[in-house]
Amino acid sequence: MMNKPVAAPSRTGEILKKYDLKAKKGYGQNFLIDVSIVQKIAASSHCEGAVIEIGPGIGSLTEQLALRSRHVRSYEVDERLLAVLDDTLSEYSNVEIILQDILQADLEQSVRELKETYGSVSVCANLPYYITTPVLFRLFECAEPVEWITVMVQKEVADRFAAGPGSPDYGALSVESAYLYDVKKLFQVPRTCFSPAPNVDSAVIQFRRKTVDTEGTGQFFELVRACFAQRRKTLYNNLKAYAPEGTGINAVLAEAGIDPGIRAQNMTLEQFRALYTVWRKMI
Ligand code: SAM
Repeated sequence: MMNKPVAAPSRTGEILKKYDLKAKKGYGQNFLIDVSIVQKIAASSHCEGAVIEIGPGIGSLTEQLALRSRHVRSYEVDERLLAVLDDTLSEYSNVEIILQDILQADLEQSVRELKETYGSVSVCANLPYYITTPVLFRLFECAEPVEWITVMVQKEVADRFAAGPGSPDYGALSVESAYLYDVKKLFQVPRTCFSPAPNVDSAVIQFRRKTVDTEGTGQFFELVRACFAQRRKTLYNNLKAYAPEGTGINAVLAEAGIDPGIRAQNMTLEQFRALYTVWRKMI
């Protein structure tokens, strides 16, 4: 590498100046300006085969992925960044930039194609925070599963994804991600590591796919959301509001071995699974 890394504050400053680039708030543009952080994210991402990046920005994380991966496919929505990336990543022949909103991309096709060519595909990104949940759910629900997802998100969101039963952060998000993935919060990143600095602190979170039968995942998620519809209500009352008229909720709960007075925030993943198994059979 002839230049300083893109994430070095002086190099980022030069790039932004050269292209007269002002970060667009609407696109969640907060560029990482800490070399050790981008290196740490890339190194933990299991990107050896192919890696999909969401939002390369000016290429700080992309560069670190390119150094470790056989192929980097990055989706960027802001067309102003194409010329910048062409410049900052000119040393790397294994980077492909796609100008497209990630929410419009055919992820299933992309993952399948990359798996066929490179053997494995992971996802790694410093996510634009305004679309964190929809992006992650598109990945979770992708028919071609991604084994490792390593993303920087708002710290509070990381806490919600990684929370366990009994925690105030535990909710439908936590149960749904735990159903499909082992979830681990890797490390926190202070706001001073970004330019411009966001109003919140961040954390890197990692999802590792579990071996799970995904048949009925959509219905399972719907049931979990219904259980959490009103956090202060008991499971029985939330289910009563959700179930078709005349459903014998007590019979369902007895069959699943669950106390009707429990609240969803105290239920384990195994209890949600047991509930769903009986629900599917009896409703
Ligand atoms: N990866 C860079 C870094 O770490 O410095 C930039 C991260 S910045 C938080 C988020 C990036 O996502 C920006 O480059 C932004 O333009 C891009 N972005 C925002 N919305 C997007 C979308 N819907 N699809 C693809 N990229 C998007």
